[in-house]
Amino acid sequence: MNNNLLEVEVVEKIKEVLSEREDLCDCKQCQRDIYALALKNLQPRYAGSEEGRILLDSVDISSTQTKMDILRVVVEAAQKVSKLPHHNR
Ligand SMILES: [Zn+2]
Repeated sequence: MNNNLLEVEVVEKIKEVLSEREDLCDCKQCQRDIYALALKNLQPRYAGSEEGRILLDSVDISSTQTKMDILRVVVEAAQKVSKLPHHNR
């Protein structure tokens, strides 16, 4: 897996989560915040870091487990951002 695939997957999941959850703000600002936060939490595991590189070959972006992990991190990030949005409601 490379950064690009991870980013595409994160964007997909954010759209999915925001379309399902009426309670979460889906403005551009919040989407950017969720994206940044989710990637920050996922990259050390799936891409970015040097140690992460060792794991890269063993991580399969299409596996159900990986998708579940990414979804969980995105939901967490979305909830965190919705509690502390960078804008006034
Ligand atoms: Zn917002």
